[in-house]
Amino acid sequence: MNLLLTVLLTLFIGNATVSPDKAEDQVQNRVEIVIEGNDQMRFNLSEINVKAGDTVVLTLKHTGKLPKAAMGHNWVLLAEGTNVQEFATTAIRARDNEYIPAEGDDVLAHTALIGGGEETTIEFTAPAAGEYDFICSFPGHYSLMKGKLIVE
Ligand code: ZN
Repeated sequence: MNLLLTVLLTLFIGNATVSPDKAEDQVQNRVEIVIEGNDQMRFNLSEINVKAGDTVVLTLKHTGKLPKAAMGHNWVLLAEGTNVQEFATTAIRARDNEYIPAEGDDVLAHTALIGGGEETTIEFTAPAAGEYDFICSFPGHYSLMKGKLIVE
């Protein structure tokens, strides 16, 4: 009788630990990233690592004081193989759309354009494994404000 009770108890405990494990797996697929941009035209991260299929919750914080018109920042994730210089040149003409070109499929994800003291959050699904460039597409910023999203 004691043995049976032990077995039942073990089964119960075993089952009880199954659900939290599953919940944990789901939490692991959600990755929160905070990246900062400043008045010196720099991101604080040059590399972001995620796994394919992760839900990426990315917050861009502008830690500077300058207004959007003078020192606007966004975070733009580009498709693999995008010519960053060409894209940035095209983006300059998209001023009415916060420097995100309306045409083409170079942009995989992007935040709003923000000024000093502001922050903005987006959510997107990490693309297939590979290396992706990210930039700020505000005119003249991409040469300093750039990095890689590395997807495993
Ligand atoms: Zn910028």
